Amino acid sequence: MSGRQSAKSVVVLDTAAILSGCTSPTNDNYTVNGVLRELEKFGVDFELAPFSPFVTVMEPSEEYIACATMAASKTGDSVLLSEIDLSLIGLALQLRKTDGRPVELFTDDYALTNVARFLGLKHSFVGLRKEGFNVIKWIWFCPSCHRVYFNGRRVCPDCGTKLKRKPR
Ligand SMILES: [Zn+2]
Repeated sequence: MSGRQSAKSVVVLDTAAILSGCTSPTNDNYTVNGVLRELEKFGVDFELAPFSPFVTVMEPSEEYIACATMAASKTGDSVLLSEIDLSLIGLALQLRKTDGRPVELFTDDYALTNVARFLGLKHSFVGLRKEGFNVIKWIWFCPSCHRVYFNGRRVCPDCGTKLKRKPR
């Protein structure tokens, strides 16, 4: 590891973080391919964007996505997280393991922040609020028949009512 490299921070950015201008040239910035597709929806062509020279696009290996998926199911956030979200968490885990430097996840997503906290990943909330909060474990309940579910269903399998969630 070179001195220059160790002076930089390693950050993993989601779409909102990139759009918010969190791609500092003084950091080693990482994101995943799925974020580039999301940026396109906002009219941002990654290849032409001024920040693209500072951002490395990389996919985590399956084992780290599996860790991310397992953590999300433990906190009850699975249903709220996309494949892209899980890849971002997986990438942060992989970089933490392989790079050796602390890795920080920049996101505007509460579910991502929650899982990052659960995994002990440093994270910054991009956007209106930057705050610390405890890991929330959710239960999902049917407002109609009052059954409770722990696995993040969206609809009650018994009566078809849209489930609500509350902290466990
Ligand atoms: Zn029900």
